[in-house]
Amino acid sequence: MAKPEAVVRKAVVRALYGRSTSLNLTTKKINDVPECISRLTNLSVLLLNNNFISDLPAELLSLRQLEELNLGNNALKEVPAVLGHLESLKKLYLFSNQITVVPPEVIGGLPNLVVLNLNHNQIQRLPPDIKRLEKLQHLSVLDNKLEEVPVEIGYLTSLVEINLTYNNLTLLPQQLYQCKELTKLHAARNKLTTLPEGITALAKLQVLDVAGNNLSMFPVQFHLLPLKELYCEGNRFVQHELMQSEQQAEVLPLKELVARFVLQQDRNRFSLVHMMLPHYPCLMTLLGNGSRCVVCRGPFLTTWLECVHFINLKKDMKMRCFLTIPVRALLCSYKCFNAEEHNYYGVATM
Ligand SMILES: [Zn+2]
Repeated sequence: MAKPEAVVRKAVVRALYGRSTSLNLTTKKINDVPECISRLTNLSVLLLNNNFISDLPAELLSLRQLEELNLGNNALKEVPAVLGHLESLKKLYLFSNQITVVPPEVIGGLPNLVVLNLNHNQIQRLPPDIKRLEKLQHLSVLDNKLEEVPVEIGYLTSLVEINLTYNNLTLLPQQLYQCKELTKLHAARNKLTTLPEGITALAKLQVLDVAGNNLSMFPVQFHLLPLKELYCEGNRFVQHELMQSEQQAEVLPLKELVARFVLQQDRNRFSLVHMMLPHYPCLMTLLGNGSRCVVCRGPFLTTWLECVHFINLKKDMKMRCFLTIPVRALLCSYKCFNAEEHNYYGVATM
Protein backbone atom coordinates (compact mmCIF):
# COMPACT_ATOMS: atom_id res chain seq x y z
CA MET A 1 0.00 0.00 0.00
CA ALA A 2 1.25 3.50 -0.84
CA LYS A 3 2.38 5.78 1.99
CA PRO A 4 -0.09 8.50 3.00
CA GLU A 5 2.36 11.25 1.94
CA ALA A 6 2.72 9.76 -1.55
CA VAL A 7 -1.05 9.45 -1.95
CA VAL A 8 -1.53 13.08 -0.92
CA ARG A 9 1.24 14.34 -3.21
CA LYS A 10 -0.37 12.51 -6.10
CA ALA A 11 -3.76 14.02 -5.35
CA VAL A 12 -2.26 17.51 -5.14
CA VAL A 13 -0.38 17.13 -8.43
CA ARG A 14 -3.57 15.89 -10.09
CA ALA A 15 -5.49 18.86 -8.69
CA LEU A 16 -2.76 21.25 -9.82
CA TYR A 17 -2.83 20.05 -13.43
CA GLY A 18 -6.59 19.81 -13.53
CA ARG A 19 -6.97 23.33 -12.03
CA SER A 20 -9.38 21.80 -9.53
CA THR A 21 -11.48 23.97 -7.31
CA SER A 22 -11.89 21.23 -4.71
CA LEU A 23 -9.54 18.78 -3.03
CA ASN A 24 -10.71 15.85 -0.94
CA LEU A 25 -8.13 14.44 1.49
CA THR A 26 -10.66 12.90 3.87
CA THR A 27 -9.41 9.84 5.79
CA LYS A 28 -5.91 9.73 4.29
CA LYS A 29 -4.07 9.05 7.59
CA ILE A 30 -2.02 12.23 7.26
CA ASN A 31 -0.29 13.97 10.20
CA ASP A 32 0.87 17.03 8.27
CA VAL A 33 -0.71 19.06 5.53
CA PRO A 34 1.83 19.34 2.68
CA GLU A 35 2.90 22.90 1.92
CA CYS A 36 2.42 22.29 -1.80
CA ILE A 37 -1.35 22.61 -1.26
CA SER A 38 -0.68 26.35 -1.08
CA ARG A 39 -0.07 26.28 -4.85
CA LEU A 40 -3.69 25.30 -5.51
CA THR A 41 -4.80 28.91 -5.47
CA ASN A 42 -8.06 28.08 -7.30
CA LEU A 43 -9.31 25.92 -4.43
CA SER A 44 -12.71 26.78 -3.01
CA VAL A 45 -13.30 23.51 -1.12
CA LEU A 46 -10.66 21.70 0.96
CA LEU A 47 -11.63 18.59 2.91
CA LEU A 48 -9.06 17.44 5.46
CA ASN A 49 -11.37 15.73 7.95
CA ASN A 50 -10.69 12.34 9.57
CA ASN A 51 -6.89 12.57 9.74
CA PHE A 52 -4.29 13.21 12.47
CA ILE A 53 -3.55 16.86 11.70
CA SER A 54 -2.34 18.97 14.65
CA ASP A 55 -1.46 22.20 12.84
CA LEU A 56 -1.64 23.89 9.44
CA PRO A 57 1.33 25.36 7.52
CA ALA A 58 1.36 29.17 7.30
CA GLU A 59 1.71 28.86 3.49
CA LEU A 60 -2.01 28.05 3.27
CA LEU A 61 -2.75 31.76 3.46
CA SER A 62 -2.30 31.81 -0.32
CA LEU A 63 -5.66 30.01 -0.69
CA ARG A 64 -7.47 33.30 -1.25
CA GLN A 65 -10.52 31.70 -2.90
CA LEU A 66 -11.14 29.06 -0.22
CA GLU A 67 -14.78 29.06 0.87
CA GLU A 68 -15.13 25.71 2.65
CA LEU A 69 -12.61 24.05 4.95
CA ASN A 70 -13.30 20.87 6.85
CA LEU A 71 -10.81 20.02 9.61
CA GLY A 72 -13.22 17.87 11.62
CA ASN A 73 -11.97 14.82 13.48
CA ASN A 74 -8.27 15.67 13.69
CA ALA A 75 -5.79 16.42 16.51
CA LEU A 76 -5.89 20.24 16.67
CA LYS A 77 -5.37 21.75 20.13
CA GLU A 78 -5.92 25.31 18.96
CA VAL A 79 -7.64 26.96 16.02
CA PRO A 80 -4.68 27.33 13.56
CA ALA A 81 -3.49 30.94 13.25
CA VAL A 82 -3.37 30.82 9.44
CA LEU A 83 -7.17 30.57 9.32
CA GLY A 84 -7.35 34.23 10.35
CA HIS A 85 -5.98 35.12 6.88
CA LEU A 86 -8.50 33.09 4.89
CA GLU A 87 -10.92 35.97 4.55
CA SER A 88 -13.06 34.31 1.88
CA LEU A 89 -14.02 31.34 4.13
CA LYS A 90 -17.76 30.79 4.40
CA LYS A 91 -17.89 27.34 6.01
CA LEU A 92 -15.45 26.21 8.68
CA TYR A 93 -15.73 22.81 10.37
CA LEU A 94 -13.48 22.13 13.39
CA PHE A 95 -15.58 19.48 15.18
CA SER A 96 -14.05 16.59 17.16
CA ASN A 97 -10.59 18.00 17.85
CA GLN A 98 -9.09 18.92 21.25
CA ILE A 99 -9.39 22.67 20.85
CA THR A 100 -9.33 24.63 24.12
CA VAL A 101 -8.78 28.15 22.78
CA VAL A 102 -10.43 30.17 20.03
CA PRO A 103 -7.95 33.05 19.42
CA PRO A 104 -9.66 36.45 18.93
CA GLU A 105 -7.42 37.40 15.98
CA VAL A 106 -8.42 34.27 14.04
CA ILE A 107 -12.16 34.77 14.56
CA GLY A 108 -11.79 38.49 13.82
CA GLY A 109 -10.24 37.67 10.41
CA LEU A 110 -13.20 35.68 9.09
CA PRO A 111 -15.84 38.30 8.27
CA ASN A 112 -17.55 36.19 5.59
CA LEU A 113 -18.15 33.09 7.69
CA VAL A 114 -21.68 31.68 7.40
CA VAL A 115 -21.19 28.30 9.12
CA LEU A 116 -18.95 27.72 12.15
CA ASN A 117 -18.90 24.24 13.66
CA LEU A 118 -16.85 23.77 16.84
CA ASN A 119 -18.70 20.71 18.17
CA HIS A 120 -16.98 18.16 20.48
CA ASN A 121 -13.99 20.18 21.69
CA GLN A 122 -12.86 21.57 25.08
CA ILE A 123 -13.67 25.25 24.56
CA GLN A 124 -14.41 27.24 27.74
CA ARG A 125 -15.11 30.63 26.22
CA LEU A 126 -15.73 32.35 22.92
CA PRO A 127 -13.90 35.69 22.44
CA PRO A 128 -15.90 38.95 22.25
CA ASP A 129 -14.43 39.32 18.75
CA ILE A 130 -17.10 36.89 17.63
CA LYS A 131 -19.08 40.05 16.93
CA ARG A 132 -17.05 40.45 13.71
CA LEU A 133 -18.85 37.43 12.22
CA GLU A 134 -21.69 39.55 10.94
CA LYS A 135 -22.72 37.07 8.23
CA LEU A 136 -22.73 34.01 10.48
CA GLN A 137 -25.98 32.03 10.19
CA HIS A 138 -25.12 28.72 11.86
CA LEU A 139 -23.09 28.56 15.06
CA SER A 140 -22.61 25.17 16.68
CA VAL A 141 -20.59 24.68 19.88
CA LEU A 142 -22.23 21.42 20.97
CA ASP A 143 -20.44 19.35 23.64
CA ASN A 144 -17.77 21.76 24.88
CA LYS A 145 -17.02 23.38 28.25
CA LEU A 146 -18.57 26.80 27.69
CA GLU A 147 -19.38 28.60 30.94
CA GLU A 148 -20.77 31.70 29.31
CA VAL A 149 -21.81 33.11 25.96
CA PRO A 150 -20.33 36.56 25.26
CA VAL A 151 -22.86 39.41 25.19
CA GLU A 152 -21.39 40.31 21.78
CA ILE A 153 -23.50 37.49 20.32
CA GLY A 154 -26.13 40.22 20.01
CA TYR A 155 -24.15 41.64 17.07
CA LEU A 156 -24.69 38.44 15.06
CA THR A 157 -27.94 39.58 13.53
CA SER A 158 -27.83 37.03 10.69
CA LEU A 159 -27.85 34.02 13.03
CA VAL A 160 -30.51 31.49 12.11
CA GLU A 161 -29.44 28.60 14.33
CA ILE A 162 -27.36 28.29 17.51
CA ASN A 163 -26.45 25.00 19.13
CA LEU A 164 -25.08 25.21 22.69
CA THR A 165 -26.18 21.75 23.85
CA TYR A 166 -23.97 19.92 26.41
CA ASN A 167 -22.01 22.79 27.95
CA ASN A 168 -21.78 24.36 31.45
CA LEU A 169 -23.89 27.46 30.85
CA THR A 170 -25.77 28.91 33.82
CA LEU A 171 -27.35 31.73 31.81
CA LEU A 172 -27.78 33.07 28.30
CA PRO A 173 -27.10 36.76 27.61
CA GLN A 174 -30.04 39.18 27.41
CA GLN A 175 -28.53 40.47 24.15
CA LEU A 176 -29.74 37.31 22.42
CA TYR A 177 -32.97 39.17 21.66
CA GLN A 178 -31.05 41.17 19.01
CA CYS A 179 -30.60 38.01 16.89
CA LYS A 180 -33.91 38.62 15.16
CA GLU A 181 -33.44 35.95 12.45
CA LEU A 182 -33.02 33.11 14.95
CA THR A 183 -35.31 30.17 14.19
CA LYS A 184 -33.60 27.40 16.18
CA LEU A 185 -32.02 27.65 19.62
CA HIS A 186 -30.58 24.50 21.18
CA ALA A 187 -29.40 24.91 24.77
CA ALA A 188 -30.23 21.49 26.23
CA ARG A 189 -28.06 19.80 28.91
CA ASN A 190 -26.65 22.92 30.54
CA LYS A 191 -27.22 24.46 33.99
CA LEU A 192 -29.58 27.25 33.02
CA THR A 193 -31.77 28.51 35.87
CA THR A 194 -33.58 31.16 33.79
CA LEU A 195 -34.00 32.15 30.17
CA PRO A 196 -33.43 35.81 29.24
CA GLU A 197 -36.64 37.85 29.33
CA GLY A 198 -35.78 39.29 25.91
CA ILE A 199 -36.18 35.86 24.29
CA THR A 200 -39.83 36.71 23.61
CA ALA A 201 -38.63 39.31 21.06
CA LEU A 202 -37.37 36.48 18.80
CA ALA A 203 -40.33 36.67 16.45
CA LYS A 204 -39.05 33.89 14.14
CA LEU A 205 -38.07 31.33 16.79
CA GLN A 206 -39.60 27.96 15.87
CA VAL A 207 -37.53 25.39 17.74
CA LEU A 208 -36.37 25.77 21.33
CA ASP A 209 -34.59 22.95 23.13
CA VAL A 210 -33.88 23.60 26.80
CA ALA A 211 -34.26 20.03 28.09
CA GLY A 212 -32.09 18.95 31.01
CA ASN A 213 -31.50 22.33 32.69
CA ASN A 214 -32.54 23.86 36.05
CA LEU A 215 -35.35 26.09 34.81
CA SER A 216 -38.21 26.81 37.21
CA MET A 217 -40.39 28.72 34.73
CA PHE A 218 -40.41 30.43 31.33
CA PRO A 219 -40.03 34.21 30.90
CA VAL A 220 -42.90 36.72 30.77
CA GLN A 221 -45.08 36.41 27.63
CA PHE A 222 -43.26 33.27 26.51
CA HIS A 223 -46.53 31.89 25.14
CA LEU A 224 -46.56 34.63 22.45
CA LEU A 225 -43.55 33.08 20.68
CA PRO A 226 -44.39 31.37 17.35
CA LEU A 227 -42.80 28.09 18.48
CA LYS A 228 -43.46 24.85 16.60
CA GLU A 229 -41.29 22.62 18.79
CA LEU A 230 -40.37 22.95 22.46
CA TYR A 231 -38.24 20.43 24.35
CA CYS A 232 -38.12 21.04 28.08
CA GLU A 233 -38.16 17.72 29.94
CA GLY A 234 -35.77 17.28 32.85
CA ASN A 235 -36.06 20.75 34.43
CA ARG A 236 -37.23 21.90 37.86
CA PHE A 237 -40.44 23.62 36.92
CA VAL A 238 -42.72 24.99 39.64
CA GLN A 239 -45.64 22.66 40.18
CA HIS A 240 -49.29 23.44 39.77
CA GLU A 241 -50.31 23.31 43.41
CA LEU A 242 -52.98 25.43 44.98
CA MET A 243 -52.03 27.14 48.19
CA GLN A 244 -54.25 29.34 50.29
CA SER A 245 -52.74 32.77 50.65
CA GLU A 246 -54.64 35.87 51.67
CA GLN A 247 -52.40 38.91 51.93
CA GLN A 248 -53.34 42.33 53.25
CA ALA A 249 -52.89 45.39 51.04
CA GLU A 250 -49.39 46.71 51.61
CA VAL A 251 -48.07 50.26 51.94
CA LEU A 252 -45.69 51.02 49.07
CA PRO A 253 -42.42 52.90 49.55
CA LEU A 254 -42.42 56.50 48.35
CA LYS A 255 -40.10 55.79 45.39
CA GLU A 256 -42.47 53.13 44.10
CA LEU A 257 -45.52 55.35 44.58
CA VAL A 258 -43.92 58.21 42.64
CA ALA A 259 -42.65 55.87 39.91
CA ARG A 260 -46.15 54.45 39.40
CA PHE A 261 -47.62 57.93 39.22
CA VAL A 262 -45.01 59.10 36.67
CA LEU A 263 -45.38 55.93 34.55
CA GLN A 264 -49.16 56.34 34.56
CA GLN A 265 -48.93 60.03 33.60
CA ASP A 266 -46.39 59.21 30.87
CA ARG A 267 -49.01 57.14 29.05
CA ASN A 268 -50.91 60.35 28.29
CA ARG A 269 -48.95 62.13 25.56
CA PHE A 270 -50.55 65.47 26.41
CA SER A 271 -49.49 65.34 30.05
CA LEU A 272 -46.79 67.60 31.45
CA VAL A 273 -44.88 64.52 32.69
CA HIS A 274 -44.80 62.99 29.20
CA MET A 275 -43.45 66.21 27.71
CA MET A 276 -40.84 66.81 30.40
CA LEU A 277 -39.46 63.25 30.81
CA PRO A 278 -37.09 63.36 27.78
CA HIS A 279 -35.19 66.13 29.60
CA TYR A 280 -34.29 63.64 32.37
CA PRO A 281 -32.43 60.75 30.67
CA CYS A 282 -31.43 59.12 33.98
CA LEU A 283 -35.06 58.99 35.02
CA MET A 284 -36.03 57.56 31.61
CA THR A 285 -33.47 54.77 32.07
CA LEU A 286 -34.74 53.99 35.55
CA LEU A 287 -38.37 53.93 34.47
CA GLY A 288 -37.41 51.75 31.50
CA ASN A 289 -37.13 48.86 33.98
CA GLY A 290 -40.81 49.13 34.80
CA SER A 291 -43.41 46.52 33.97
CA ARG A 292 -47.13 46.30 33.54
CA CYS A 293 -49.46 44.34 35.83
CA VAL A 294 -51.08 41.39 34.06
CA VAL A 295 -54.28 41.85 36.05
CA CYS A 296 -55.03 45.60 36.16
CA ARG A 297 -52.62 46.58 33.30
CA GLY A 298 -51.29 49.34 35.60
CA PRO A 299 -47.57 50.24 35.46
CA PHE A 300 -45.10 49.60 38.28
CA LEU A 301 -41.34 49.82 38.78
CA THR A 302 -40.36 47.19 41.32
CA THR A 303 -41.51 43.65 40.76
CA TRP A 304 -43.98 43.29 43.55
CA LEU A 305 -45.29 39.86 43.13
CA GLU A 306 -43.87 37.12 40.97
CA CYS A 307 -46.48 34.71 39.76
CA VAL A 308 -46.87 32.03 37.14
CA HIS A 309 -49.66 31.00 34.86
CA PHE A 310 -49.83 27.59 33.31
CA ILE A 311 -49.78 27.47 29.54
CA ASN A 312 -50.98 24.49 27.57
CA LEU A 313 -48.77 24.02 24.51
CA LYS A 314 -51.61 22.56 22.45
CA LYS A 315 -54.39 24.92 23.45
CA ASP A 316 -52.49 28.18 24.01
CA MET A 317 -49.56 27.86 21.61
CA LYS A 318 -51.10 25.64 18.90
CA MET A 319 -48.27 23.12 19.15
CA ARG A 320 -48.61 19.38 18.64
CA CYS A 321 -47.99 18.62 22.29
CA PHE A 322 -50.23 18.44 25.36
CA LEU A 323 -47.62 19.58 27.86
CA THR A 324 -48.40 22.36 30.36
CA ILE A 325 -45.59 24.77 31.25
CA PRO A 326 -45.27 27.54 33.88
CA VAL A 327 -44.78 31.06 32.44
CA ARG A 328 -43.67 34.00 34.57
CA ALA A 329 -46.16 36.81 35.19
CA LEU A 330 -45.79 40.02 37.20
CA LEU A 331 -48.49 41.60 39.36
CA CYS A 332 -48.48 45.07 40.87
CA SER A 333 -50.03 44.32 44.28
CA TYR A 334 -51.72 41.84 46.58
CA LYS A 335 -54.92 43.68 45.73
CA CYS A 336 -54.61 42.40 42.16
CA PHE A 337 -53.42 39.00 43.35
CA ASN A 338 -56.49 38.63 45.57
CA ALA A 339 -58.85 39.83 42.83
CA GLU A 340 -61.27 37.21 41.56
CA GLU A 341 -61.13 35.53 38.19
CA HIS A 342 -57.54 35.32 37.17
CA ASN A 343 -55.26 32.34 36.65
CA TYR A 344 -52.06 33.61 38.21
CA TYR A 345 -50.48 31.64 41.00
CA GLY A 346 -48.02 33.02 43.52
CA VAL A 347 -44.67 31.26 43.50
CA ALA A 348 -44.05 29.74 46.91
CA THR A 349 -40.54 30.49 48.11
CA MET A 350 -39.25 27.62 50.19
ZN1 LIG B 1 -52.37 45.27 39.19
